[in-house]
Amino acid sequence: MINKLSRSRKIVLAILAVVAVIAIVALVAQGGVNRLNAIQLSDLAQFVRNGDVDKITISDDDIIIKFKSGRADASSKKELGATIGNQLRDFGVTADELARIKIEVVTPFDWRDLMMTVSLLVVPIVVIIALWYFLRQTQGANNQAINFGRSRARMFIGDRPSVTFQDVAGADEAKQELVEIVEFLKEPEKFIQLGARIPKGVLLIGSPGTGKTLLAKAVSGEAGVPFFSISGSEFVEMFVGVGASRVRDLFEQARRHSPCIIFVDEIDAVGRHRGSGLGGGHDEREQTLNQILVEMDGFDTDTNVIVVAATNRPDILDPALMRPGRFDRRVMLDRPDVKGRAAILKVHVRGKPLAADVDLAKVARSCPGFVGADIENLVNEAAILAARRNRKSISMSEFDESIERVMIGPERKSRIISPREKTITAYHEAGHAVMARMLPNCDPVHKVTIIPRGPAGGYTWTLPDEDAHYVNRAKFLDELGKALGGRAAEEIIFGDITTGASSDLQHVTEIARDMVTRYGMSELMGPMIYGQKHEMVFLGRDLGEQRDYSDTIALEIDREVQRLVNAAYSQAKQVLTEQRAVLDKIAQRLIDVETIEEEEFKAFFDRTVRAPT
Ligand code: ADP
Ligand code: MG
Ligand code: ZN
Repeated sequence: MINKLSRSRKIVLAILAVVAVIAIVALVAQGGVNRLNAIQLSDLAQFVRNGDVDKITISDDDIIIKFKSGRADASSKKELGATIGNQLRDFGVTADELARIKIEVVTPFDWRDLMMTVSLLVVPIVVIIALWYFLRQTQGANNQAINFGRSRARMFIGDRPSVTFQDVAGADEAKQELVEIVEFLKEPEKFIQLGARIPKGVLLIGSPGTGKTLLAKAVSGEAGVPFFSISGSEFVEMFVGVGASRVRDLFEQARRHSPCIIFVDEIDAVGRHRGSGLGGGHDEREQTLNQILVEMDGFDTDTNVIVVAATNRPDILDPALMRPGRFDRRVMLDRPDVKGRAAILKVHVRGKPLAADVDLAKVARSCPGFVGADIENLVNEAAILAARRNRKSISMSEFDESIERVMIGPERKSRIISPREKTITAYHEAGHAVMARMLPNCDPVHKVTIIPRGPAGGYTWTLPDEDAHYVNRAKFLDELGKALGGRAAEEIIFGDITTGASSDLQHVTEIARDMVTRYGMSELMGPMIYGQKHEMVFLGRDLGEQRDYSDTIALEIDREVQRLVNAAYSQAKQVLTEQRAVLDKIAQRLIDVETIEEEEFKAFFDRTVRAPT
C-alpha cells in the first residue's frame, strides 16, 4: 500500500511541477516588460518631438519604445482606452511628427492563453501517464483499493491434471455421477448434437472432510480444464456490497476460459434461505445469491461452464438453488464404510514405507466414523510417530496409537495416580469390559486400558465387526448396560461411587432420551417423535428445539427415560455381581499391566468365566 501511495503522490507532484513551470514562464514573459527603463508619457512626447523615436510597440496599455540614437529601449504606459496618437497630441506632438515614427500594435501577451495552450498539450499526456500507472497497478493483482470488486477466484489451469479420480477413493457412486460431467467437459459437441441439456450445476453434499473439494478438483483434472475456485465465505468478506460484483466477475472470467469449472466451496455461506430474518448481513448474502442465480440462468447452451458447489448443510440451502437448470445434480459423499476407509488408507500410504505387520483392513476397521481428511491425518500422525521413534517404516503400533490419539486425545503418562485411584479406575474399566462381553449385542472389546488419555482416566474400546447403519433397540439397551457397568462395578466393590463416571452418565442419558423421543423405542410413549428440532440462525447457534407436547407428556418422557436407565443399572449390578470372579481378575490384571488387548482379553475371559448364557 505504501508503495502505491507514494506512486500516486509522484503523479501529483509531476502535475504540480508542470503547473509551476508554466507559471514561471508566464511571470518571466510578463516581467520582460517591466525590466525596461520606464519613462513618463510626457517624456515620450518630448522624444517624439525631438525625432529621437524610431518605433513604438503597443500592447494593451504597455508601450515599448525603440530609439534611433541607439539609446536603450524604454517602456511606458498609456491610459487604457485612449489611442496613443490622441495622448501624444495632448502632449503637443504634431501629426507630422507622429507620422515620422513607426507604430505597431501587438496583441498583448496573456499568460492565461499560454496556460491554455500548454495545458491542452500537457494535460492529456499527464492523464495518459496516470492511467498507465493505474492500469499497471490493477494488473499487479494485489491492489485491494482498485481490485476489490474483482473476484479473487484462484485459477488452476489443468493441462497436466494434478488430481484425478485415482486420488479419490471409496466414493464410487459419487465418481460415477461425475464421470458424465467429465465427458461433457471433454466433448461438449457430442451432447449438444443430440440436443441434450447440459447440466449447469452440481452440488456436492457431504460432511466436512469427505473429499468434496478433492472431487471437484479431480473432475477438472480428469477433463483437463481450468478450475476456478472461490469459497462462499469469501463473498461475504471485508467489503460490503461487492459480493454480487465478484460473482459477475468470476463468471465472466470463467466464460472467457470455457470449457471450465467454477467451484463454489461452502455455498451455504451465501446460499441460505433468503429472507430468513435473524442476524446481520442478509442483504449482502441475498444479493450475492441472486447474482449467482442470474449468472447461471444466463448461461447459453453452448457456454461450457459447469458450476460445482459444495456444502455440508444441504438442509439450509435456498430451494431456488436446487431448481432444474441450476444445481439440479446432487452428489452425496457419505462417510466411508470399512471398505471405503481401507481404500482411502491405500491412497494415503502410497509412497510411505510400511512395516510387514501393518494390516490396513484392520486399521480401517478400528476407525469407524473417520472421513477422508481424518484418515489422511491419521496416516500422517503415524508417520510422524514412526520418525520420532526412529523407525525405518511405519508399523501397526503407530497406527493404533494415532487412532487413539485422534479419537480420545493424547496419552497422559505423566499424570501421577494414587494406588487407590488406580484400583478404582481398574474396576471401573473392568466393569465396562465385562458388561461388553456378557451382553449379546455389544461390540467386541478391542482394548481396555487405565492409562489416562485426553480427558478420560481410562477407557474400554469396543469395535464393531462391520459398520452398522441401523441400530436396534436391543443394542441400545445393551449399550446402556455397558456404559453403566463402570459405575456399577464401583458400587459393588467399594460400596461408594466417584465422579469418574460422569461422561458415562451423560452418554447414557442421551441414548435413553433419544430412544424415547427420537426413535419411538419406548412401548409406553409409542412410535412417535417428541419435539421438533429447528434450524435457527441465532447468536451463532443454529439448532433449537421446540416442544410440541404437553407438560404431562414431558413428565411421562422423563419417567420413561428414568425407567430405562434404572433398569439398565440394575441389570449391570446383577451381571457384575454374578461375574465377580472375572471382574476381580481383570481389574487385577489392569493394575499390573495397565492395558489388555483384544486377544488377551478374549482368552482371559474364556478361561475364567462360566459360559455366557
Ligand atoms: P471437504 O472439501 O469435503 O471438506 P476435502 O476435499 O478438502 O474435504 O478433503 C480433505 C483431504 O482429505 C483431501 O485433501 C484428501 O487428502 C483427503 N480425502 C478426503 N476424502 C478423500 C477420499 N475419498 N480419498 C482420498 N483422500 C481423501
Ligand atoms: Mg472443502
Ligand atoms: Zn466409564
